[in-house]
Amino acid sequence: MQYYSTNGKAPLASLEKAVVKGLAEDRGLYVPLRIPRLPEAFFAEIGRMDFHAVACAAAEAFFGEDVPAEALRKMVCDTLSFDCPLVQVEENIWTLELFHGPTLAFKDVGARFMARLLAHFTHGDGKEIHILVATSGDTGSAVANGFLGVEGIRVHVLYPKGKVSPIQECQFTTLGGNITALEVDGTFDDCQALVKEAFMDADMNARLRLSSANSINIARFLPQSFYYFHAFAQLQRLGRAQDAVFCVPSGNFGNLCAGLFAREAGLPVRRFIAANNANDVFYQYLRTGNYCPKESIPTLANAMDVGAPSNFARIYDIYGKDWNRIRALVGGGTVSDAQIRETLADCHRRTGYLLDPHGACAYRILRESLQPGQAGVFLETAHPAKFKDTVEQATGTQVEIPARLAAFMRGTPCKTPLRRDYADFRNYLYGL
Ligand SMILES: *Cc1c(COP(=O)(O)O)cnc(C)c1O
Repeated sequence: MQYYSTNGKAPLASLEKAVVKGLAEDRGLYVPLRIPRLPEAFFAEIGRMDFHAVACAAAEAFFGEDVPAEALRKMVCDTLSFDCPLVQVEENIWTLELFHGPTLAFKDVGARFMARLLAHFTHGDGKEIHILVATSGDTGSAVANGFLGVEGIRVHVLYPKGKVSPIQECQFTTLGGNITALEVDGTFDDCQALVKEAFMDADMNARLRLSSANSINIARFLPQSFYYFHAFAQLQRLGRAQDAVFCVPSGNFGNLCAGLFAREAGLPVRRFIAANNANDVFYQYLRTGNYCPKESIPTLANAMDVGAPSNFARIYDIYGKDWNRIRALVGGGTVSDAQIRETLADCHRRTGYLLDPHGACAYRILRESLQPGQAGVFLETAHPAKFKDTVEQATGTQVEIPARLAAFMRGTPCKTPLRRDYADFRNYLYGL
């Protein structure tokens, strides 16, 4: 498969180049030249297949031309060492729980797959790769844990000082080994800008082999399509797959974008809904047709605090830059912090289900938008224990900390301070 750049000014790239480079030469995002289609027979059978079988079939469609079948199968099964169950919350509404991985957030799926695909392409060529990753909270921990101990790869996590929760922070500051945490005096967008600038710095790229693991990387976002197929299979077993709607708590829009790719590959989903918090640039685009990136605003659902969502470029591109096509398929909504608290409490009171602040945004918008007869699925992207204080205050219920999360909190944090200034970051990298 070849990959083109959304900016249209870079040469076509192989999967290997797209994965190793992350971003195209013209700063665009790589998109597959053709989205493969799975046969209808596959969707008729999917209800009888387990998670690994479903994911392997999807992986084969997207990556099968470029990765030998056995290696790909192993990558998929190693990545999905945990389940993504569909859990009913109330009549017509299910949650797809994506927080059963090592860091208790959905980004484990993409990060673990990418680590394995990158190692597949670079194994044995002897040159160290530096992964630069900007995080608003959960990307850093998922990438750091996904790559921990992978030989020949070093990970540098840039995160905004004081803007991620203590539990999120300890998941990338306590690992050591090939993982370094950089605490940036700025916002998530500043972190992302530093990373983008390093990729564009010709001198830097001549000296160091840099790669990205943000959701802009094709190997990060595309494997997230696997669990949409799996959710659909579970709906089919329940006899509710005819009119499925997925609501996705969105920040950088990698997760929603993966769902759209699943649909373009044939997954018969009726509609997607993008749930925003107060950072609602995408929702405003749906309403007005104007896309106006902004500074991000801190909210309770901090992994969605993105003012300039990178993957908008992919969504815009695959639907021919056509506002009407996009809004015919994707709905949206915006949720304030007060509404997040209210939704956490209300859902728990009525159903007994404990949401996290990101899932709360999606649950709320889904309930407001669902039509009679539809089966609504919202993605639960993090375990509520990752946002313990918010969830406990809103619901008045104690949240139990799962053992694998408690283990991180016992570790010793180690972080390097950085100003939000490229010269500072450059010096750090040259000092490696
Ligand atoms: C990253 C993240 C999101 C947003 O996902 P995108 O793919 O960036 O849109 C939502 N919820 C949680 C918990 C996250 O970590």
